[in-house]
Amino acid sequence: MAGRVMAKQEAPQSFKLSPVVLVFLLTLGFFYLLDHFSKSQPGAETIPYSQFLSDVDEGKVAEVALSTNKLTGELKQAPPNHSKYFSSIRVEDPNLAQRLKTAGIQFSGLEETSGFWSAILSAVLPLIILFVFWSMIFRRSFSAEKGGGFLSLGKSKAKVYVETDLKTKFEDVAGVDEAKEELQEIVNFLKEPERYSSLGGRMPKGILLVGPPGTGKTLLARAVAGEARVPFFSINGSEFVEMFVGLGAARVRDLFEQARKQAPCIIFIDELDALGKARGISAITGGANDEKEQTLNQLLAELDGFDPSQGVVLLAATNRPEILDPALLRAGRFDRSILVDKPDRQGRAQILKVHSKKIKLDPSVDIEAVASMTAGFSGADLANLVNEAALIATRRKAPAVNVNDFTQAIERIVAGLERKSRLLNPEEKKRVAYHEMGHAAVALALGHDEIIHKVSIIPRGISALGYTLSRPTEDRYLMERNELETKMAIALGGRASEMKFFTDISTGAGDDLDKATDIARAMVTRYGMNDELGVGVFERDPSPMLGSQMPVRTFEYSEQTAQQIDLAVKSLLHKSLDMAGNVIERYRAMVDEGAQILLTQETLDEPALKRLWEKYRAAPATPVSTAIRPISSA
Ligand code: ADP
Ligand code: MG
Ligand code: ZN
Repeated sequence: MAGRVMAKQEAPQSFKLSPVVLVFLLTLGFFYLLDHFSKSQPGAETIPYSQFLSDVDEGKVAEVALSTNKLTGELKQAPPNHSKYFSSIRVEDPNLAQRLKTAGIQFSGLEETSGFWSAILSAVLPLIILFVFWSMIFRRSFSAEKGGGFLSLGKSKAKVYVETDLKTKFEDVAGVDEAKEELQEIVNFLKEPERYSSLGGRMPKGILLVGPPGTGKTLLARAVAGEARVPFFSINGSEFVEMFVGLGAARVRDLFEQARKQAPCIIFIDELDALGKARGISAITGGANDEKEQTLNQLLAELDGFDPSQGVVLLAATNRPEILDPALLRAGRFDRSILVDKPDRQGRAQILKVHSKKIKLDPSVDIEAVASMTAGFSGADLANLVNEAALIATRRKAPAVNVNDFTQAIERIVAGLERKSRLLNPEEKKRVAYHEMGHAAVALALGHDEIIHKVSIIPRGISALGYTLSRPTEDRYLMERNELETKMAIALGGRASEMKFFTDISTGAGDDLDKATDIARAMVTRYGMNDELGVGVFERDPSPMLGSQMPVRTFEYSEQTAQQIDLAVKSLLHKSLDMAGNVIERYRAMVDEGAQILLTQETLDEPALKRLWEKYRAAPATPVSTAIRPISSA
């Protein structure tokens, strides 16, 4: 992470008064003046009221000024060592005026100075206190980012980081060749903006990188900056969303302003969905939306007033493009999106190669084989895998990372940490062994392209008591109906095996049933794979763009159809359980032997399973069994 500096250069701190101190001083000064003015006569002496009365009676008083609660006056003659002027607090005395008049003393009213000032004070003081309090909170919420405190409210101290001289290059990103190709054009443009503008070509204003988490979107954006050697302004969508309304918008303005000054450069808004949620969706939650909306509007305004020929390229990334506000995606704004998808097998191998440069790899490791074991892994998962493998190798004090470390790391990532401490009683252990062997047997017999590469009865993760790890031989994008049915049968293999070998069934199949039911339901309601129901789609995923405000699944069918769906799902599950039961029946001896091995050795690896299968594959077919009990008695 080279050259990460704050974009905002700060003025030297030395001449700045802290605003809190400033307010404090002002308040003090105010009190001083107040005190000063409320004293009508300098050097006046405060005397008791009784003394004043006796002075009046003795004819010593020359003049008096009265207010409702105070009086001040002047003596005809100053007593020795005392001031000629006096003041006194008034006592309830309705006859005073009469008394003064009789004594022939000149008297007048006095302006209510103290009352006036205290009125002002009581109005202003709470404001001052509030102000000080507020500015303290304000300062605290930004104390991490330095800056001018509350006096520079509009100037955001946004975490607008600009990085110059990035070391990330395209070669650090693998397996996303199409995206790289598209971005190469942006790099060229950033290198020579003049050449592009002289031909009249226009760059797209905003480019949106779309793809699942961990596929390298952030990495790609950085690589573009690294390749083009331009400054990289980055901000996370969630950072725009501020506690104070209007601040997010100020940040957006600031970000674009700063970037324009440094063109050519890249502005990158990560996790754009945090900011650009469709406005309707969040309306029901109320509260913070004003702020979000203002910020979003500011962003839209900046996009409109933004001229890409200046050499500023706007990149953004999101993994949820479907929730983005349509206004963001219309032409002239983020008008090009680039898909950054999960890597295929080749891509995974390339990513593994990139990351294993950082570790010491045993020459015997076949990266291609590791890649084929990791279908569905994202780039970030693979980076994590390489690291885990290195950690495992370190733990066994090996000189280099070998294939075994990789398989262990994969198992750990896929199934969770081993938990040898979880003790199963022998009966439970036996059940788990037969259950897992049931899955394995069905997969061996029916799963054409599914390779079982490990069966284990070591508890793992939060809930698994045992596990069967399979991997597809290739990446799959389409599934045929019979493959889905096979998948269901494999999932139900554990239960089928329990039914064959035990008198009662157990809760161990809970997750399996979940999985099988999901597949069956999807086949019926989404893929049109049920002959009676036909090709209609009956359930959709929540789609906020379709005007529905609540993120709920939409159901579009009548009661009658609902019943049909239930029946169809049930019959699919039934069929799959039957399929699994038949396999277990036919390969009963294999399941038995496998389970016994599991009970002594805890795991069966790929070669061991292969040997088992070779030994039993020619088992004679049995007639369709009726011994399987239905999944429910209904
Ligand atoms: P995203 O932004 O798409 O969620 P990131 O770019 O933050 O994903 O990726 C996280 C990490 O995973 C990266 O820092 C990198 O180490 C690794 N990674 C992800 N995708 C790739 C890839 N295509 N090539 C190499 N490394 C990758
Ligand atoms: Mg990211
Ligand atoms: Zn199971």
